[in-house]
Amino acid sequence: MSPPDTSFAPSENIAKLKESATIAVSQRAKALKAEGREIIDLGAGEPDFDTPEPIRRAAQHALDHGATRYTATEGTLALRTAIAARTTVRRGRGETITPAQVVVSNGSKQSLFNACFCLFGPGDEVLIPTPSWTSYYEMVALSRATAVAVMGDPNDGFRVSPASLAAHATERTRGVMLNTPVNPTGTVYTRSELDALLTMARERGWWVICDEIYLRIAFDGDATSCLDVAESLDRVVIVDGVAKAYAMTGWRIGWTISAAPLAKAMAAFQSHTTFNAAAVSQAGAAAALTLGEPVELAVRAMVEQFRVRRDAAMAILAEEPAMRVIPPEGAFYLFIQAPGAGSVPDAGSVFAARLLEKHNVAVVPGAAFLAPDWIRVAYSTDIDQVKTAMRRIVTAFRER
Ligand code: PLP
Repeated sequence: MSPPDTSFAPSENIAKLKESATIAVSQRAKALKAEGREIIDLGAGEPDFDTPEPIRRAAQHALDHGATRYTATEGTLALRTAIAARTTVRRGRGETITPAQVVVSNGSKQSLFNACFCLFGPGDEVLIPTPSWTSYYEMVALSRATAVAVMGDPNDGFRVSPASLAAHATERTRGVMLNTPVNPTGTVYTRSELDALLTMARERGWWVICDEIYLRIAFDGDATSCLDVAESLDRVVIVDGVAKAYAMTGWRIGWTISAAPLAKAMAAFQSHTTFNAAAVSQAGAAAALTLGEPVELAVRAMVEQFRVRRDAAMAILAEEPAMRVIPPEGAFYLFIQAPGAGSVPDAGSVFAARLLEKHNVAVVPGAAFLAPDWIRVAYSTDIDQVKTAMRRIVTAFRER
């Protein structure tokens, strides 16, 4: 009997879809671990902390008191009210945020996709400051719009400026994806930089999607939110969630804040794809935002741990003067230039492969972020492991 034919012709929708490189690295690291290898996995962008206990307790209570059913597509009023209240505090320059402007989704990843899919379509171009999180390019492409990578300045933390965006703009440009603090570089945009970017987008009538999932993980005081500087939210979508700052990656809660008509459209779209985010997760997220001091203490302690790890990692990497690292100001990533950059094709992938196969350290090749001369290292793991991994990276770097 011939084997079953399980092949299929992918639809045009996904014909060019690429697997997430960050998830692929984690899976390879897990496979090697299963073979008995002691891999230090610095691939995944996931805090190693448990969700703070008061949040877990609140969710357990909610589960026993009815949080087991469908909710409104756009999320429970309790959670949207909590998000709106917290957000309004930041709107120094503008209107009060109402729950009608908030749509809760299954992680900020879905929030970003909702926004891209509802705003962009065939013929549209979307500017993506690069290097950037790998999924932006795919989300724009899945919306059948064209992603336009705008390479930032490596001598300035890979920041983009209004001038660099302008250089890539055409009459088809419809939006820009901003992210601060930035995955994969850890760069944090200053207030005046964000102001300049938002002002330019506003003048040109572009949509700005601001991904602020790492906003609370910043090491030099509060990072500026687009909410702090945007004159109006008419053409701005703020994306945030609980995954990173509250160590709640598995709960899958993210949200958008936008003008109410767009919020309504995104909720309608979501109602036909996934419907509401899990009721119990929404209760947990509402607790994270409303319980106050006990949760805030835990968040501050986690951020402090990230800072300690960053400092320890940077101190070890500094022992190799030839190594170039973008100074990280937030999030929990280091962006390191690979040996052979500029001469070896895809030097980051070559270095990442050597680190994994020979030195048992999993990192993500920069090609995943359209910066093939670099690697991304997540230091969201135990400090001793971070230090050991950094020593191995220095050793591997010197082997060239
Ligand atoms: N945005 C950025 C820049 C990220 O790095 C990630 C996750 O790695 C996300 C969004 C998605 O986060 P969530 O777990 O809320 O879907």
